[in-house]
Amino acid sequence: MPDRFDLEFEVTRGDWLAVNKAVVQESPEWVRARRKHRRAARFQALFAGVIMVYLGYQLFKVGPHPFGFYVVFTVLVVAVMVLMFYLGPRLEHIEQSIKQQFKAIERFDFSTSTGTTRLTMDEVGIQVRSRYRELKISWQAVERPTTVGGFVMLSYVGAYCTIIPQHAFASQASATEFLDCASRLWQNAQLPHVERLERYLTDRDLPCPKCKYNLRNMRGESCPECGKAIKLDVLTGT
Ligand SMILES: [Zn+2]
Repeated sequence: MPDRFDLEFEVTRGDWLAVNKAVVQESPEWVRARRKHRRAARFQALFAGVIMVYLGYQLFKVGPHPFGFYVVFTVLVVAVMVLMFYLGPRLEHIEQSIKQQFKAIERFDFSTSTGTTRLTMDEVGIQVRSRYRELKISWQAVERPTTVGGFVMLSYVGAYCTIIPQHAFASQASATEFLDCASRLWQNAQLPHVERLERYLTDRDLPCPKCKYNLRNMRGESCPECGKAIKLDVLTGT
């Protein structure tokens, strides 16, 4: 599996709209609300079904009906009406809110985030170059790589993010490979600094910033020659 990816792809306004809408629709808040509503609706249908069966049974029975029947019947009908009234407007509220958020998204200006984007991903982090931006981000400043609405999404501390459309990849398999690689590199970045530093300096010729001693295969977090504390981000320039 490669530890480095170079991609070049086009990002359109339509891509940004699609991603942002998917983020809204897939947000845990709405997913939870919809699931809760579906459960309530199933319960409601079951409840109404039981009443219908009971009512049908009573209607087929030759009257006159006992007084208790009318009491139970009225209570059940009122209960169903209350339930429907209570559950009905909530789904409407969810849909309304999603629609409002969609409208807000339509008004966003994505112009500085569109166009040809070149992305390089390696063990140090991500580099993104476009007409408007040039970013070099270490994995420490990246949130867990994820997919949203068919896009690979890399979010950075500071709320900026890069989206990679499906068509940037030759196939579904290479998209999966990219995400696996990003996840693995991100996971490595969560290790303690000393481990990441030792890993980075394995078989790499890099001089100590102070005394120029070759730090290849160094153990620990300071130069064995002059004792200077070595920081990974200084070595990698991120
Ligand atoms: Zn040194």
